[in-house]
Amino acid sequence: MRRVVRGTAALAAGVAVLAIAGTACAASPALTSFMRAFPKGAELHTHLSGATRTTSLVQYGAEQGDTFTPLDGSTPFPFSAALTPGPARRAAIDGMSVYRMAPGTQATHDHFFATFGAMPDLQARTRQQAYAEVTDRAARGGLMYQEIMQTYLLGDIASAGADVGMSDDLEATRVAMLNGPLTPLIARADREVRNDMAGVRRLQRCGTAHASAGCGVRVRLIWQSIRVLPPAEAYALMIAGFELAHRNPYVVGNTLVDREEAPESLRDFPLHMRMYAHLRQVYRDDRIDLHAGEMAPGFAPPSALRDHIRASIAAGSRRIGHGVDIRWEQGSAQLMHLMASRRIAVEVNLKSNEVLLGIEGRDSQFDAYRRAGVPMVLGSDDQGEFNSAITDDWLRAVTRQKATYPELITLARNSLEYSFAPGHSIWASTAPRRWRLVGACATSVPGVRRSAECTTYVHAGLKSRMQWDEEVRLRAFIRTHPVMPAA
Ligand SMILES: [Zn+2]
Repeated sequence: MRRVVRGTAALAAGVAVLAIAGTACAASPALTSFMRAFPKGAELHTHLSGATRTTSLVQYGAEQGDTFTPLDGSTPFPFSAALTPGPARRAAIDGMSVYRMAPGTQATHDHFFATFGAMPDLQARTRQQAYAEVTDRAARGGLMYQEIMQTYLLGDIASAGADVGMSDDLEATRVAMLNGPLTPLIARADREVRNDMAGVRRLQRCGTAHASAGCGVRVRLIWQSIRVLPPAEAYALMIAGFELAHRNPYVVGNTLVDREEAPESLRDFPLHMRMYAHLRQVYRDDRIDLHAGEMAPGFAPPSALRDHIRASIAAGSRRIGHGVDIRWEQGSAQLMHLMASRRIAVEVNLKSNEVLLGIEGRDSQFDAYRRAGVPMVLGSDDQGEFNSAITDDWLRAVTRQKATYPELITLARNSLEYSFAPGHSIWASTAPRRWRLVGACATSVPGVRRSAECTTYVHAGLKSRMQWDEEVRLRAFIRTHPVMPAA
């Protein structure tokens, strides 16, 4: 969940910073260390700017010579003034996060979306550091792969779309944008992504004796378009995302972010769905992962809760980001049945949903999806905003949702199975409790033996390589941790 556009309609008024009530997740030390070490596979729902620690954002803002503009209207100051302890540092950190606010309130919800307007832009000079920070933390949390959501050249691409404008003909508009100013920007974004991915490896000294932990985490990107922008701008961002997914090996999918219940988002929602359906067809690319149903009663009008998940799936979304409001969708049971049978995974972000929407415990969608057999994966969404780590979300699955040890294993397997990593799956069946390896690996046992045929199969693609590696790690973990500690 996030907002990326600087300076758009910041909801600044009346933000009270309260105690961190209710956001800590009570778990025994034994369970906490068990969960930290648990091989979690992949994280498929995290945003680069929201995942970066606020202290790092202050540093990056200072390095870029940026000014912090307090959301309460008080006098702006340079980020460099917030480098040392004091009121400026406190104001900047509170201005870019929600972790010291009361969870589940309208004020926290509104402040969250406003914070992105106050953050420094993560430009070329500091973006690589942000990737390094996020992947180092992911490695410490037992992850091997992340799909990180990010947009490059957002302002430039949006302006290019605005210059061309929108007609009723989606294809004619797409062609006009590509024949106009969009194509050189896509080429530039392509270079910047490649440069970042190479740069972060250098920064982390990967391949040397002093390699950072994050070298063990492979990164791919999910491109974000912004649902509150005018249609031509949102569409230009979508086109750029599909073009990049086509030509850049690091961009593996597309999503739509920002405040889902904003009036402009609701007004344009049917149009956005038509845009994705059109681009999916044009590019023959179904790697679409839309934020949908990131809403709850009290935070959105009832009419908004009725059909966003269903419509996003109809537009071609193969995964659903958040899906919190599933119980309020029309035909909810039938929709979950559809998701289960078509294996459309939902990215459940327990901490985010608790802090921003007040959805937790038995209220959470987790149990509804679990009972319906919908594949789930866990995500942390915006660790910097929540001052959290991926292990917090996994602990919540156990302490609040009573996830069992076998369910944790399923969550880990799901995270790679439903990723957009290139290559084939090692699984012939992913039915609950009936995971079965493909024929080429039928006689092989991860961590014990592997046939020549299976080795060839596994090495053929990134997804199969990571899945095999994950099975080896899981097997080793289960051997040393036969029982999950009590909460
Ligand atoms: Zn999100």
